[in-house]
Order: sequence, then structure tokens, then C-alpha cells
Amino acid sequence: MSEFYLGILGGGQLGSMLSLAAKKLGIKTIVYCNDADAPAQNFCDEFIFGEYNDNLCLEDFVEKAKVITYEFENIPYLTLDEINKKKPVLPKPSINRLIQHRLAEKDFINKLNIRTTQYVLIKKKSDLDSLSDLLPGILKTTTMGYDGKGQYLIKEIKGVDTLNIDFSKEYILEKIVKLKKEISIIITRFGNNSYEIYEPIENTHEDQILKYSKIPAEISDNILNQSKDWAVSIAEELKFIGTLCIEFFIDRNDNLFVNEIAPRVHNSGHLTINAYNVSQFENHVRAVCSLEKIPLKKLSNAKMINLIGSQIEPYRQNIRLKDNEFFFDYLKKEIKDKRKMGHITILI
Ligand code: ADP
Ligand code: MG
Repeated sequence: MSEFYLGILGGGQLGSMLSLAAKKLGIKTIVYCNDADAPAQNFCDEFIFGEYNDNLCLEDFVEKAKVITYEFENIPYLTLDEINKKKPVLPKPSINRLIQHRLAEKDFINKLNIRTTQYVLIKKKSDLDSLSDLLPGILKTTTMGYDGKGQYLIKEIKGVDTLNIDFSKEYILEKIVKLKKEISIIITRFGNNSYEIYEPIENTHEDQILKYSKIPAEISDNILNQSKDWAVSIAEELKFIGTLCIEFFIDRNDNLFVNEIAPRVHNSGHLTINAYNVSQFENHVRAVCSLEKIPLKKLSNAKMINLIGSQIEPYRQNIRLKDNEFFFDYLKKEIKDKRKMGHITILI
């Protein structure tokens, strides 16, 4: 029998951790990425460097893989759709198309009677003129944003000109929520009403980049139950197969809002590697490769710290870790400002 290869589009740290999880389950991985230095090549079995619209280059990848998944949402929909005609792509390409677009994503969530922030589509600069009710707000590109990229804080309309915003792109303007906390829920869905859900994770961002995650989240039972219910509704409605993450805001009056959906494994779930019997990565591989679903068991409370830019340096100098501390180096070639370079999980 030929070996089972899981194909992964995208070669960042999420691809690395998916590859490690697959290896543990005896599944080989082939990663395809448009970055020749993609860190996942250090962890997968085979690596192909190519552009996401290079059909010729994609051929070998598609040929080898039995099932194909993706580790970031900005893979072109057309690529996923073409591949899906030859081999199963999970989660389904249509889910990716929906979630790639902030407006479609938020409209979808609201249709389920789930609360999001207030938002309006902005097609041209003058669309902002009548929207002072949504200020202070954040202007976000409708597509291709991550880690706060493509976002502008708008305090008042007259300040917009100083921000050098490229209005040839589409945006949404979103009202700022006075945040008390941010949490996320990670859920892996295997089929109809068949899923494993992790407890809410409390997240702290610095400069719109995730810095700390911890369990348990310090939240009320109401918020705990509501966030889990909403996560299940979203996963079921999407008929999602695999791991997804729902990011939430909690405002100062304890209202819960969905911020966004990540149709993939998520940075806030790195602590599941050490704190649970089955990590978000292993669960994703299990779900997309139709393996057995194992009941989740939490092993420990935990805190995860992202190492951003040069914060990785001391850890690379063989820093002495305690028994309850786990360091992961993403093996990125170049240290860059604001780049996620690694993380530490501390079991507490
Ligand atoms: P990305 O796709 O870059 O992750 P997000 O929409 O999740 O974009 O924004 C990143 C972070 O910026 C959020 O986690 C939150 O800390 C902050 N933020 C974004 N939108 C709002 C908002 N409407 N109100 C308050 N904070 C926000
Ligand atoms: Mg986000």
C-alpha cells in the first residue's frame, strides 16, 4: 500500500506543528509554500516551493497527497477549488472563501443571530463621511489581513488624510469595543454533531499581535457557556471538518462579541500541545484524515507566551527550562520585528 501523505498548503509554524502531530500518528506530510525559507520544511517529510497559482508546480503536490488541508486562510480560493476536483480539500474551499472576506464572514455570523461588532463596508473614502457613529473605529482591509496588518485606527474623520490609506482596496469600518477581555474557543469537528471542544482561552494582545494565552480564562459561567454554544453553532453551520478557532471580545458590560473566525489551527491553541491529551493539531489531523475521535482530557492549566522578534534570542542560548516549561523554536531564518519566532508554554 502506498504511504498516506497529508498535504498542507502553507509552511509557517502552524504547518510545522501539524506536521509533528501527523508524524506522531504515523502520517507523512508534504508541505507546499510560496516561501523558499518556509520553516515547516524543517518538520515535514517533503517540501515543495511554488506559487499558489502555479498549477504545474502544484501537480506533484496534489499527486502525492491523499487529503489536503491548509494552515492559513489566505490561500487563493481558485487554487483550493481546482485541487478539490482531484483530491479532497478539508475544510471545504467554500468555507475558506467565506472567511477570507471580513464582510462575508461577519454577515454570516450575524445571520446565525450571533453578535459581532458593528461594521460597514467602505468602498471609497467618502463612504466614511456619514459614519461618525462608528468612531472611534478600526478600518480593516476586507481581505488578506493578519496580526493587525491592513488596519487603521480612525478617531475622527478629519484625521483620515494623514493615514495614507490606499482606497483602491475595500475595507470595513468597525466600531471599537471597549475591551475587558479577549478569549478564543478552539473546536475540532469530525462530522454532524461530532466534535471536541477546548475550554475558552484568555488572550492578551500587544500591538494587535497575540502575546499571552492562558487557561482557565477568568470569565463568568454565562460567558463560558455562551462562547461554547456559539462556537458549536458556527462549526455546525459551516459543516466544518477539522480544527477552527473563534476569537471573541468581551466588553466592559460583559457583552460577548465574535471578532473573527480562523478556519484553521490557531496561535492561542499552542498550549493545547502540553495541556491536553490531544492537541488542536493532532485533532485537526485526526478529523481531516478520518481517524478516530478521542475524548479530550485537560491535563493541566497553562500559560503560553509568544516570543516575538528578538525575544527568541535568550531562549536560543540554551536557557535552562524548568520541568513545567516547554520551548518551541519555529526555526525561522531571519529575526524580524513583530515576527512570531517561537513560544513557551508553562504548565501551572
Ligand atoms: P487580525 O485578522 O489581524 O487578527 P483582528 O480583527 O483579530 O485582526 O484584530 C487584531 C486585534 O486588534 C484584536 O485581537 C483586538 O485586540 C484588536 N481589535 C480589532 N478590532 C477591534 C475592535 N473593533 N475593538 C477593539 N479592539 C479591536
Ligand atoms: Mg484576529
